[in-house]
Amino acid sequence: MPCPLCSHDKTYKHGKTSKGSQRYRCPNCKQTFTDTFDTIYYRRQVSQEEVRIVLQSHCEGTSLRGISRISGLSYNTGVSLIRAASQKAQLVHNGEVSSVDTDAIAADEMWSFVKKQKHCLPEELEAGDCWIALSLAQLNGLILSGRVGKRTDKLAIELVTSTQGKTDCQEWHTDGWSGYERVLCTDDEVEHYISKILTQRLERTNGSLRQQTGRWHRRQNKFGKVWEQTKVTLRLVISYFNWIWVHSRLGTTAAQRADLTSQPWTWQDIATYSTLC
Ligand SMILES: [Zn+2]
Repeated sequence: MPCPLCSHDKTYKHGKTSKGSQRYRCPNCKQTFTDTFDTIYYRRQVSQEEVRIVLQSHCEGTSLRGISRISGLSYNTGVSLIRAASQKAQLVHNGEVSSVDTDAIAADEMWSFVKKQKHCLPEELEAGDCWIALSLAQLNGLILSGRVGKRTDKLAIELVTSTQGKTDCQEWHTDGWSGYERVLCTDDEVEHYISKILTQRLERTNGSLRQQTGRWHRRQNKFGKVWEQTKVTLRLVISYFNWIWVHSRLGTTAAQRADLTSQPWTWQDIATYSTLC
């Protein structure tokens, strides 16, 4: 197999690992590696099916304890897989979502709540009201950006800036939250429309995000306990909705409709997404 670091194509077998996997060595850069190097399987004894169950269940809103019971994997293994996959999902988003063609950008926020925990230092945990802001390409339903935070101008600025890196479109449709008005009016090229009707498609996406992510359901008692975990989940869910989730009526993923890929991705594509070379 080619070297995952320098792409040199003549690598040699180099003994076995303590778990019995084949090890390789690259004569060019001297790196040793196994065939799971640079995937979330590296140094984890989990199968492809176990990874699929953990990640899919997490995106459907199953609790972390529930995932442990369903998969038979330990709680810590589940959490560590989700964190590793979330990092991959972020890299997929950074690397694959660009120059998105759309006639308009829709932005909306979902309210969530991060439970206050005792025995935590203030700097270790952000608690209380928590907003998840999303921007969507209206033409194809692709999520351009998602941010977690308090409902402040900082959240609006982060969402607008990260969205502008993904598309040249300058037409924004938002709800009446004044944060968008203050942020978007500083850019002369932006056209900004405020309406409940224009953000309908996003609200539908939010609806299905909410349906499938139990922890974000309003009025449910499955609040995320840790702010950082909400960010981890959001990164994973965004890539799930863009690349894996097939729209039941259209029969395609948002990434297909945005011409970023020719077919639906699987969890395996995210788990093994190359971050090297
Ligand atoms: Zn190499």
